[in-house]
Amino acid sequence: MSATQTAQLMHGTSLAERIVEEAAAKAAEISRHTGTSPCLATVLVGEDPASATYVRMKRARCAKAGIKSRHIVLPGATTTAELIDTLADLSSDPDVHGILLQHPCGPHIDERAAFEAIAPEKDVDGVTMHSFAAMSFALPGFVSCTPGGIMRLLEAYDVELAGKHAVVVGRSAILGKPAGMLLLAKDATVTYCHSRTADLSAIVREADVVVAAVGRPRLIRGEDIKPGAVVVDAGYNPGNVGDVDYDTALTRARLITPVPGGVGPMTIAVLLAQTAEAAANQLGVQQR
Ligand code: NAP
Repeated sequence: MSATQTAQLMHGTSLAERIVEEAAAKAAEISRHTGTSPCLATVLVGEDPASATYVRMKRARCAKAGIKSRHIVLPGATTTAELIDTLADLSSDPDVHGILLQHPCGPHIDERAAFEAIAPEKDVDGVTMHSFAAMSFALPGFVSCTPGGIMRLLEAYDVELAGKHAVVVGRSAILGKPAGMLLLAKDATVTYCHSRTADLSAIVREADVVVAAVGRPRLIRGEDIKPGAVVVDAGYNPGNVGDVDYDTALTRARLITPVPGGVGPMTIAVLLAQTAEAAANQLGVQQR
């Protein structure tokens, strides 16, 4: 590829719209068959404005798709035990089909313990150990939404993964680690990089597929992208900046996700799709 060529964009916005339409159709079918609409419970601890905005966006998208939401705001001083009680109550409430605990919950909360109070069949955000293990063993269950969205994008753009070298930069439990496991399940050869990785540039240069999931603006430089590689930028930093230096990567990659409008919209779309699926499972509606 010459320096003047530019990559094709992987548009998350339009694909996410289609996934949301499918979720809406499934929600309507569930309501028709059972008289009950799918319901997502959203739990927010404290008043962090960014977290409140994320939850508001998710609930607005639910409403548009015919998915009800029940919003629970707990005071910032809520203890881990109190949060676990709330999540356990929602887990056993038959009117709730999916549960989303907005995180981070604050430094005083043991988030892992809280996530584990979510019943696996309602873990539509894919945050429990059960969901991670099921995904890793290719068993039925819900995937973490952002990695799930990344895989849907790669599939939609016919990206061949078998035998390709995928480099995932970032190893968080909700993003980097599950993204690598999903790529492995598609027979990619996966390398994880993280804050202690020596010579990140050298490893990224070998990648056929790069997944950036760090939270450091423009950490991945265009000159390190192998010509013709596929670049998925999950990073979202202040000023709508990703983890990849977009302008320079554009001249080297074959396919690249824009920021915003790439991975971002896919996350909510997968959340809605998984909520509709959870409701169908729990209400005994046959799925096509
Ligand atoms: P996180 O929990 O902070 O994890 C960041 C990861 O990046 C860690 O594994 C860390 O390594 C690694 N890292 C940090 N500095 C590095 C460096 N210099 N070189 C290589 N690796 C480095 O973040 P996260 O929740 O996974 O989110 C990552 C990014 O994705 C953020 O920008 C976030 O906003 C975005 N995000 C987007 C969506 C979406 O819907 N689009 C959803 C979730 C997250 P260690 O493990 O060694 O610390």
